[in-house]
Amino acid sequence: MTEDHRAFADSVARFFAEEFEPNREQWTEDGMIPRSFWEQAGELGVLGATIPEEYGGLGLSRHFDTVSYLEQTKAGDSGWGLSVHNIATHYILAFGTEDQKHRWLPKLATGEHIAAIAMTEPGTGSDLQAVKTTAIKDGNEYVINGSKTFITNGASADILVLVAKTDAKAKSKGVSLLIVETADLDGYSVGRKLKKMGMKRNDTAELAFDDVRVPQTALLGSEEGQGFYQLMKQLPWERLLLGYMALGASQCALKVTLEYVRERKAFGKRVMDFQNTRFKLAEAATKIELLSAFLDTCLDELEEGKLTPEKAAMAKWWGSQTQCEIVDECLQLHGGYGYMSEYLISELYADARVQKIYGGTNEIMKELIARSLDID
Ligand SMILES: Cc1cc2nc3c(=O)[nH]c(=O)nc-3n(C[C@H](O)[C@H](O)[C@H](O)COP(=O)(O)OP(=O)(O)OC[C@H]3O[C@@H](n4cnc5c(N)ncnc54)[C@H](O)[C@@H]3O)c2cc1C
Repeated sequence: MTEDHRAFADSVARFFAEEFEPNREQWTEDGMIPRSFWEQAGELGVLGATIPEEYGGLGLSRHFDTVSYLEQTKAGDSGWGLSVHNIATHYILAFGTEDQKHRWLPKLATGEHIAAIAMTEPGTGSDLQAVKTTAIKDGNEYVINGSKTFITNGASADILVLVAKTDAKAKSKGVSLLIVETADLDGYSVGRKLKKMGMKRNDTAELAFDDVRVPQTALLGSEEGQGFYQLMKQLPWERLLLGYMALGASQCALKVTLEYVRERKAFGKRVMDFQNTRFKLAEAATKIELLSAFLDTCLDELEEGKLTPEKAAMAKWWGSQTQCEIVDECLQLHGGYGYMSEYLISELYADARVQKIYGGTNEIMKELIARSLDID
């Protein structure tokens, strides 16, 4: 980390301590993070760190985004949908026309608009070519029909990066991305806010489209059928940042566990003093160092345009697997208290599990890696 990264990390850490921590319980109960928190994050530069200045951001490198994800997860939160919001902005930045960038990025940088990415459907998740939602051209509009599920920030989103088929008969070549503004949109509805085992502060939701009409300028970029290519181009970054979230959450788990085992006594000594505890903590600290070093190599490669999809897949599966192992061992060291909601480790445990599922399941990640090995 450079001095600038450290200064940014300090201000994000302070932001979480002052603005998030006092509200943790209330927002968990509410099942969502209020818009005011997004706007405060926008003011601090957390939402627009990597958006160029001409579109209202700070024009910094992706190292600054990773700093934010690390500080968020080190503060023991993964419910706030910051990463999804930022990924959505990167789609517009990478593939949007000038008009689209000027129209949406400034509001995404300030938090005036909250973004979501709507890929998954009730009938398909891993197999994105099989999406059934359609966006069919009619004059100078697209007519959208279909439904999405498990959408992070779904209930609060003002902007959706929507995966739909502009050619229902074609497979990957029929997939396009549309940027949908949700305000006052006839035929659009947000269904249930889904009840989940973890990430309870996120308004993960179902979305439905019933003859929704959007202007043809909603198509991301200027050519239909580019959606699959656009998704594939952005996925390495999405997968790498999930690795960073795994790292921050693992660091948080180790920290709260160290605090606990130094205080807790059994058989007349501190739990910290049992050899098993010391070995488990040493193993966790080692895995954290290894993960951190691997992710930083990947991030440098990403900035140089050299990160391969298979290496990003390694960061995602191994990061989330390592996170789950560390959090599980750390919960065990808390004994029965680790299972109680008032101890942060129980939340970290529940939140960790989904990391192996979203962003492409870990099985799909291994498939991708294996494919790259299976070449003569
Ligand atoms: C809390 C949460 C938040 C989410 N947020 C979003 C979001 O913001 N936007 C969004 O679009 N989606 C989101 N998702 C959806 C998520 O990305 C999908 O759940 C995920 O991609 C898996 O899809 P699926 O649930 O349909 O599982 P399926 O694809 O049905 O998979 C079921 C099982 O089969 C395995 N499998 C499938 N294909 C293969 C294969 N080829 N080889 C080996 N095994 C295979 C999978 O690994 C898995 O174990 C979220 C999910 C959750 C739980």
